[in-house]
Amino acid sequence: MTCGMIDHRRRWLLVLLDRLIVFGGCVTLLWGAAVFGPMTWPGRVVVLLAVPVTLLASLRQVLGHRENQRLLRAQREAQRRLGYDATHDSLTGLANRALFRDRLGAALEAGPATVVMVDLDDFTAVNDSLGHTIGDDLLVAAAEGLDEAVGGDGLAARLGGDEFAILVADPAVDTDELIGRIGAVLDGPLSEHRLLVHASAGLATAPAGTPLDHLMRDADTALFAAKQRGKDNWVRFAPGMERPAVADAQLGAELRGGLEAGDFRVVYQPLVDLHHNRVIGVEALVRWHHPARGVIAPAEFIPVAERTGLIVPLGRFVLRETCRQAAAWLAEFGPGALRKAGPNVSARQLHDPDFVDDVRAALADSGMPGSLLVLELTESAVLRGQQVSRTLHELHKMGVRLALDDFGTGESSLSLLRAFPASIVKLDKSFVDGIELDDPDTPEAAARQAVARAVIQMAGALELDAVAEGIENEEQAERLRALGYSLGQGFHLARPMPAEEVARLLAAQRAVSAA
Ligand code: C2E
Ligand code: MG
Ligand code: MG
Repeated sequence: MTCGMIDHRRRWLLVLLDRLIVFGGCVTLLWGAAVFGPMTWPGRVVVLLAVPVTLLASLRQVLGHRENQRLLRAQREAQRRLGYDATHDSLTGLANRALFRDRLGAALEAGPATVVMVDLDDFTAVNDSLGHTIGDDLLVAAAEGLDEAVGGDGLAARLGGDEFAILVADPAVDTDELIGRIGAVLDGPLSEHRLLVHASAGLATAPAGTPLDHLMRDADTALFAAKQRGKDNWVRFAPGMERPAVADAQLGAELRGGLEAGDFRVVYQPLVDLHHNRVIGVEALVRWHHPARGVIAPAEFIPVAERTGLIVPLGRFVLRETCRQAAAWLAEFGPGALRKAGPNVSARQLHDPDFVDDVRAALADSGMPGSLLVLELTESAVLRGQQVSRTLHELHKMGVRLALDDFGTGESSLSLLRAFPASIVKLDKSFVDGIELDDPDTPEAAARQAVARAVIQMAGALELDAVAEGIENEEQAERLRALGYSLGQGFHLARPMPAEEVARLLAAQRAVSAA
């Protein structure tokens, strides 16, 4: 039996008791008057007793009734609140996922519907670097903007994190125009902190009767495609678009299997002294020897490894393998044979609390000196907040060097160098492409040369090593030398190669030095 039923019964018993007292009072009054006569002493006593009892009982009823009304109102309000909380997002006040699904289900029963998935680009970066309070402010401001842009054309909801969705059930609404309005609102400075973020959107429309999960999945797929195109994009779903979640899950499972089976190998691309044409170091690059598909390049699987978290064990493998291999080369060719050996490290690895310990263990187990290890990081990986910053400083204290990879392609390369203990910058290939052209005929080519020049000057001033990446011909090497670069990497100098080939190069160098 439920508490509600007990309460209900008790209330009725009390009401019954109240009524009995009043009734009893009235009966006593009448009985006393009839038996003793109203003017006799016993009659007066009965009346004197019965009247206040009846009055008190009546008063009690009036007060009880009032209290009941108050409780009832409070209960209704609590129920309304509960209903609201169950259907609305507590931070932004927008509809939540449950309400959104509810409305979408109803809309699809009645006719066609469109779902727009909206995701704030760089929200994680804001949250990580500026803190959760500012992140929350940003979400609230974005939600207000969305709600305003959507107006009466649909329902705006927050599905979680920085993921928003809009349901448009009215076929008369021009969704292209709606997306334009959303973009205009979200691209402006948001919240009191006037943050500049962009949003990506994916859009899908389905006819009546479509299961709502299908429509939501299609919109999600379109959103993923929009993000792939770069920030601040929107894409309408088209049949045949890849299903990233499914593809990720499948490739993720294969990746895990591949890791267990030992299908990953590390190749090494030499870093070359441009003046003496000597190998002075190596960059470690991972390759997947897939049993059915052959060798797969990192561009194809690293993003999936990052999204599924498998980059952590994969990166650990590359790190340990690189240290082991470098220590073996040092043992074979002497301590001066190599000055740098390093793997690429992704943002996800830097967020792993065990990363510093992994590096320490890899060095200890292999016997490779920490000063030889160079971790290549991209700007976006480094930009992510205080914990990463602590990790980087700890590595720096251990004597491990940090290289900023793809330098010049990010938005804040220069300012980053003040906060980040880098020892090496790697000029991105895009600034090397076309650098050999004598008379750059386009403003872009001139700008590339200007960046290459600025980077080497800045590296000189800050006492950093600069490495030019992606050198594909001698003219480029020549031009970079003239600009002041003394270290380079690229297919013209040496391609990524298996460890045995590096050993052959080192052996040849030793023979030349000895001669
Ligand atoms: P990255 O770190 O900038 O590595 C340089 C990439 O440029 C390598 O591609 C290399 O093969 C290629 N390259 C070098 N010289 C030339 C050249 O002259 N011309 C051209 N066209 N390309 C050149 P790869 O090995 O396919 O790696 C691509 C990216 O994947 C790397 O860029 C790196 O960001 C990432 N990556 C590779 N291995 C790992 C790894 O073990 N862990 C992580 N997190 N990322 C990795
Ligand atoms: Mg690299
Ligand atoms: Mg690079």
